[in-house]
Amino acid sequence: MRLHVLGSSGGYPAPDNPNTGFLLEHGAARLWIDAGTGTFAVLQRLTDFTRLDAVVLSHLHPDHCADLYPLQVALRYRVEGAIRVPLYGPPGTLEALGGLLGAGGAESLRDTFPFHAVDAGDTVEVGGCRFRFLRTDHPGHTLAIRVESSAGTITYSADTGPNVDLASFAQGSYLLVCEATYQEGKVGGPVHLTARQAGETARRAGVRELAITHIWPTFDLQVTLAEARSAAGDIPVRWARPGEVFAVGHDQGEGI
Ligand SMILES: [Zn+2]
Ligand SMILES: [Zn+2]
Repeated sequence: MRLHVLGSSGGYPAPDNPNTGFLLEHGAARLWIDAGTGTFAVLQRLTDFTRLDAVVLSHLHPDHCADLYPLQVALRYRVEGAIRVPLYGPPGTLEALGGLLGAGGAESLRDTFPFHAVDAGDTVEVGGCRFRFLRTDHPGHTLAIRVESSAGTITYSADTGPNVDLASFAQGSYLLVCEATYQEGKVGGPVHLTARQAGETARRAGVRELAITHIWPTFDLQVTLAEARSAAGDIPVRWARPGEVFAVGHDQGEGI
């Protein structure tokens, strides 16, 4: 199982880093997890978007879902014929995103994206992986995502403040992809984690590796990494740099 980082900028895209998005590759399956601004362009360098098995959205803030719109155009108006791709997201996803498309927007999206609402406590099988969800501490209906496969487990925090037990949800994961928006003394609001809190979460969860993501674009990355590492103990910490690939398990195959 491989997680390709399409983008990881927190809040708004940086000049050299799109917003949040990951391509999860498991065997022949291709799953697009979060479709933040700019990630569709990067995804097309890695795979044929007509081959996507599903799109999974953690929540409906634009930095995690805005590129669903260009994907719909590409699939719906494809000259060789329209293609449908299953979509998993919080309840009300189509109604919320359809609003921007005007009358009939939700129905138009449903035509392209057969929709499966998911929520905390649900377990769904997608592309040979088992997905579980946790409601996080973040405005709107935001879901952390745990992906279990024969290769191992990846947990993704989505966006969250500190008032949720993310460590228990991530317990036993090989990789925790955790937001680390803020730094000590540089906190813009209680709806995100600091790098230290991301490191502490990884240590409490006992994961094998921590990938920090969703870092505020103006911050010094080295400070963020140092704060996360000081709290993570012996757990290796890497930035979810755009283009980075995180491999989990031994059945990594040829890959993309
Ligand atoms: Zn965000
Ligand atoms: Zn958000």
